[in-house]
Amino acid sequence: MAHLGNYIYVVSAALFILSLKWMNSPATARRGVFAGETGMLLAIVGTVVAHDIFNWQWILAAFLIGTAIGVPIAYIMPMTAVPQRTAMSHACGALAAALVGTAEFYRANQLHETLSPPVMVALVLETLLGFLTFTGSLMAMGKLQEILPQRPITYRNQNAVNFLLFAVALGLGVRLILVPSDTWIFPIFAGLSLIFGVLLIIPIGGADMPTVIALLNSYAGLSACAMGFALNNNLLIVAGALDGSSGLILSIIMCKAMNRSFTNVLFGAFGQIQTSAAQTQQRNYRSASPEEAASVLEAAASVIIVPGYGLAVAQAQHKIRELYDNLMRRGVDVKFAIHPVAGRMPGHMNVLLAEADIPYDRLWEMDDINGEFAQCDVALVIGANDVTNPGARTDKSSPIFGMPILDVDKARTVMVIKRSMNPGFAGIDNDLYYLDKTLMLFGDAKAFVSEIVKELPAKVGV
Ligand code: NAP
Repeated sequence: MAHLGNYIYVVSAALFILSLKWMNSPATARRGVFAGETGMLLAIVGTVVAHDIFNWQWILAAFLIGTAIGVPIAYIMPMTAVPQRTAMSHACGALAAALVGTAEFYRANQLHETLSPPVMVALVLETLLGFLTFTGSLMAMGKLQEILPQRPITYRNQNAVNFLLFAVALGLGVRLILVPSDTWIFPIFAGLSLIFGVLLIIPIGGADMPTVIALLNSYAGLSACAMGFALNNNLLIVAGALDGSSGLILSIIMCKAMNRSFTNVLFGAFGQIQTSAAQTQQRNYRSASPEEAASVLEAAASVIIVPGYGLAVAQAQHKIRELYDNLMRRGVDVKFAIHPVAGRMPGHMNVLLAEADIPYDRLWEMDDINGEFAQCDVALVIGANDVTNPGARTDKSSPIFGMPILDVDKARTVMVIKRSMNPGFAGIDNDLYYLDKTLMLFGDAKAFVSEIVKELPAKVGV
C-alpha cells in the first residue's frame, strides 16, 4: 500500500506544479485551480492509503467541515476582501503545521523515541515559522479588515527589540535541538514565536500588507516543507517547497514593481510617509461631465483603459464591459493596460476584468503597452492613481521614485475617473492631474462609467 500511496503522491505533486503553471495566465487559471484542488484531494487519499490509516473517518470529517466552511466563504467574500481572506488561510495553514510539530515533539518525548538532530532541526523550524506566521497572518488580516489600526505602530529601538526576541527564540530552538528532552523549553519557545509574529507585523502599514502576506505565504510553505522532513513525508516537502518559493517569488515581483526593497517593506513603516508626503498646495486642474467625456471617447480611434484600485472598490467591471462593447461597436480600438501592482494584490485587475468577460487578448501588460500610449487618442484612467504618476520617473523626493509606471501622460488626451483629488496608496499628489491634456471626471467609477455609457448610445447613428 505504501507504494500505491507514493504513486498517488507523484501524481498529486505533478498536479500542484501544473496548477502553478496554469495559474500564470487568465486563460488557463480555472484549469490551474481545478488541478490544485484535485492534487490536494489526491494528497489526502494518498496519505490514507500510504499510512494504512484506519481512523479515516476523522480525516473525512475534517475534509467535510473544511469544505463546508471554505466553499461558502469563496462565494460570500467580495473581491476587495481577498487579501484578508488569503491571510486567514495562511494563518490556518501555519497553525496546522505548528500544531502538528508540537504534537510530534510531545508524542516522541512521551514514548521516549529518539528525536535525532536533523528531525529536531525540522521540528524547530516548522514550529517557529508556523507559530510566527499564525499570529503574523492574523495581524495582517486585522489590519486589512481595519479591525486593527492600519497605520504602522512604531516605538524606539523597535527593530532591536524584535531582533533580540527572535534571537532568544532561536537560541531556545537550538537548545531544543541539542537536548530534545528539555520539554519545559518548548512552551516558552512557542510563546516567543507567537509574540514575534505580532511584533513583526505591527510596524508595517496596512497598505503594505499584500506584500507581507505573500511573504507570510512563503513562511507557511517553508513550515510545511520542514514538517515534511520531520514526518518523512515527500509530498509535504514538495508542496511546502512550491508554496514557499512561489510566495517568495511573488513578494519579490511585488517589491520590484513598487521599486521597494524587502527591508523597506518590513522595516520602512511606509504608511507613515503617506501623511507626511501628502501635499496641501492648490494647483489647477480641469474637470468634465459624463457628456463631455462621452464626446471625447466618441471622437477617438484608440482608447487605452487603465484600471486601478478604485475599480475594485466601485465594482465597476461590468459597467466597464458595457463601455468596452459600446466603443468596440463604434470601431474604436480599446485596450486595457495592466500594471503589475495595480489594485491591492497581484492579478487584482485581471481577475476583475475576467469576471466581466473582457477578452484576455485585450489585456496588455505594462511593458507591452507603454510604447502605445504616445499613439493613443485617449487614456481613460479608472480608479488608478500611483501606477500612473509621472513623478515616479522624475521626482527623486517622491516615495515612489523609480517605480515603473504606465506612461499614461504620453497619450493625446487623458481622462481620470476618481471621486476627489485625494491621493492613493502612496499618499502623494499625482502630477498627471494637472496636465493641460488631462480631464478629471469626478465620481464613483461605476456610476460615472454608467453615465458615460448612457450618453454614448444617444450619439449612435446621429
Ligand atoms: P491607488 O494609487 O491606491 O489609487 C486608487 C485611487 O482610486 C484613489 O486615488 C481613489 O481616489 C480612487 N478610488 C477609490 N475608490 C473609488 C471609487 N469608488 N470610484 C472611483 N475611484 C475610486 O491605486 P493604484 O493606482 O491601483 O495603485 C496601487 C497601489 O497599491 C500602488 O501604489 C502599489 O504599490 C500599491 N500596492 C499594490 C499591491 C498589489 O499587489 N497590487 C500590493 C501592495 C501595494 P478617490 O479617493 O479620489 O476616489
